[in-house]
Amino acid sequence: MSRATLALTPELHQYLLDVSLREPAVLQLLREETAGHPKGKMQIAPEQGQFMALLVKLMQARKALEVGVFTGYSSLAIALALPDDGQIIACDISEEFTTIATRYWQAAGVAHKIDLRLAPAADTLAHLIASGEHGTFDIAFIDADKEMYDSYYEYTLRLLRPGGLVLIDNVLRGGAVAGPPSDNSETAAIQRLNVKLHHDPRIRLSLVPIGDGLTLAQKI
Ligand code: CA
Repeated sequence: MSRATLALTPELHQYLLDVSLREPAVLQLLREETAGHPKGKMQIAPEQGQFMALLVKLMQARKALEVGVFTGYSSLAIALALPDDGQIIACDISEEFTTIATRYWQAAGVAHKIDLRLAPAADTLAHLIASGEHGTFDIAFIDADKEMYDSYYEYTLRLLRPGGLVLIDNVLRGGAVAGPPSDNSETAAIQRLNVKLHHDPRIRLSLVPIGDGLTLAQKI
């Protein structure tokens, strides 16, 4: 027994996948296509997608938000877990990446649940608030440009209902967050946000060491 979180060797990580991963075929195909992309490592790990889908089911979420779509793996994992009349508003600026995403959303039969907004995410989030949608989202996933994370977090907190959950990706930055303030502006932004969340009385908090680190913050 240990009080420390186990560091996963490659063998143990493979075992974890062997005994727990249930990846739908369409997600597997998308993951394989994205792996061949030069920015393929931006894709979330399949066990993280499965974890997020389980959270959607646990919360019985109907309305979701995503900041940072890339090729659509996480939006698809969430959309598959939403009820048929559920909705995810997905924010990105890349037509190139989201064209791949859209192809898989259609193949999976969930395109009707996904509302893609091609614009700077901060503009889309501000527009949602101005349109009266604050306090209406059940769950949100932030996985985009790290310098903007704090801004996305603040917008998202306003958009979530009380009890709603925001998931924030890459909060361990491959281990680079431990130690002094980073020279890397993206890592430094994550370090500041992690400290801020630790003391933020507006949320309940857990930082889960899955993938590259996933923070769960529940709006109180
Ligand atoms: Ca990420």
